[in-house]
Amino acid sequence: MDSLEVIPDGAVLVRDRLVEAVGPYREVRAAAGGAEVVEVDGVLFPGFVDAHTHAVFGMARLDDHARRARGMDYKAIAAEGGGILSSVRDLRARPADDLRERTARRLRHLLDHGTTTVEVKSGYGLETEAELRTLTVIGDLAAGPPELVPTFLGAHEIPLEYRSRREAYVRLVIDEMLPAVAAQGIARFCDVFCEPGVFTPEESRRILEAARGHGLGLKLHADELDGSGGAELAADLGAVSADHLARASGNGIAALAASGTVAVLLPGTMLFLGKADRAPARALIDGGAAVALATDFNPGSSPGVSLPLMATLGVSQLRMTPAEAIMAITANGAAAAGQAGDRGQIAPGFRADLALAAVRDWRELVYWYGTNLITGVWVTGTACHSGRGTIDFLG
Ligand SMILES: [Zn+2]
Repeated sequence: MDSLEVIPDGAVLVRDRLVEAVGPYREVRAAAGGAEVVEVDGVLFPGFVDAHTHAVFGMARLDDHARRARGMDYKAIAAEGGGILSSVRDLRARPADDLRERTARRLRHLLDHGTTTVEVKSGYGLETEAELRTLTVIGDLAAGPPELVPTFLGAHEIPLEYRSRREAYVRLVIDEMLPAVAAQGIARFCDVFCEPGVFTPEESRRILEAARGHGLGLKLHADELDGSGGAELAADLGAVSADHLARASGNGIAALAASGTVAVLLPGTMLFLGKADRAPARALIDGGAAVALATDFNPGSSPGVSLPLMATLGVSQLRMTPAEAIMAITANGAAAAGQAGDRGQIAPGFRADLALAAVRDWRELVYWYGTNLITGVWVTGTACHSGRGTIDFLG
């Protein structure tokens, strides 16, 4: 993860939506024939891949933010009507058109920060119709830009009406939601919130094994606030990713390092919640695990859209090197979204998904924070950044 190839005065030749060649400008120009030339000033990165978001939601949760500042924990916030179930109440009441319009507008911000592929989860419906409505909205927007990867997260929380009969909700997810999602072909992955007080490792395993039976790939929210063996479970099931991991055990870290499961770390969430816990990025990487960084973009715990900011936090909070942090929002982000075959790298045969940053040294992308350095974005070779195109360099 710690080695990036950097080409000074480089060029990328794009043909038919794909990268045909990349290398020093003179060589690529000589091979390009009469190709149209787009000159850019700055550093060109692979388009960033955000492997963990909950981008379909209605209202922001401004009150929760203020409540946390007053020292209230999530239980106290839920008792006042806030928390995730307030997003559930809100989403259930919104028609698909409303959700589609809000989500499209928000995804534009991710795109303008250089993100060209976004994994998006359902999970604020928690009833069959509302989960399907959410996945339909994701499907409507999936072609992008940015392109979306849909994940079914019906097991995000136990809804209020099932609080005294949780097994009935697990059965609803397995017997009704998953077959409907699979029949409509509207999800690529199934995810479960495996956490003490939410879904147990045993319930998570049953749901994910059922999802696998329907042909879905697997993801897991694991060991975020308390350890419960989620990392071990994700590795054992061969999940494409295990996400959060701030409280992963030593065994869990070892299990991930020995597996093909990508560890997706979400430092923006810990920052926004004001938590001191840090995901064990160093232990994971040094042990041999693949680590990705994602925004966790959602209205409760991480209303942040910038993957470069997550890379900054990866370096400053999780002690990753700048190269590891860039790898974590490009190639490893793509792997965590099940898309490593055609994006996350600028290489022949890969999609021409590119992000241009107004920097001279690539490390500046993870150094200057709090401003958007991205001045150009291309998805399969088509320019799609909505900004003004140039900004003054900070360096
Ligand atoms: Zn999440």
